[in-house]
Amino acid sequence: MSIAVRCRVCGQQFAVEGQAAGTAARCPACGTSNEVPAGAGTFDAQTFGAGTLDPAPAQPPAFNPYQAPATGDAPVRVLPPGVRPHRGGTVMAMGIVSCSVAAIGAIICSLLLLVSLPLGIVSWIMARNDLREMAAGTMDVSGRGQTMTGMITGIIATALSALVLFVMLAIFVLYAVIIAASAAR
Ligand SMILES: [Zn+2]
Repeated sequence: MSIAVRCRVCGQQFAVEGQAAGTAARCPACGTSNEVPAGAGTFDAQTFGAGTLDPAPAQPPAFNPYQAPATGDAPVRVLPPGVRPHRGGTVMAMGIVSCSVAAIGAIICSLLLLVSLPLGIVSWIMARNDLREMAAGTMDVSGRGQTMTGMITGIIATALSALVLFVMLAIFVLYAVIIAASAAR
C-alpha cells in the first residue's frame, strides 16, 4: 500500500509507502523533495516510479553540559573536570550537632560527651581535609564558608568534650582514692 505523490516541480507522479505520510519524499525524476500527503489514497507502487524517502531531518540536539537548565529546575553547578563537589552542608551540620551535644553534655555532666567528642573530631578532620582540597583546587570552593563553620564547631565540640570528660574523670579518680583511703584506715 502506497501513497501517490505528484512532484511539485516536474509533475512526475510516484508512490511511497503509506506510513511515510507527513514526511518528505524525493522525486525519482528530478530529485526534488516533496511532502507526502496523509491519506491521499493508496496506489500500487508499480503503477508509478517508486520515490525514495528523505532521511529524517529533525535530529535531537547533542547534549550540551553548559546549556541553561530547563525552567523550574534548580540551577546546576557545572564543575571543571577534576574538581569534586564540596560537602560543606554535611560537615557544617555535623559540627553544629557535635557542638550542641557537647554543650548539653557539659552542662549536665553527662556521658553524652562520649558522643560529642568523636563526632567533633570527625567533623574537624573532614573539614580540614576539604579545606586542603579546596586550596589545592580539587574541590568546589563555594563550600568554603560552610566547611570553615564545620571545622570551628568541630574544634569547639572536641575541646569542650575533652575538657569536661577530663574533669569528670579526675573527680571520679579523686573520689575513688578518698574512698580507698578511708577504707584502709
Ligand atoms: Zn520531480
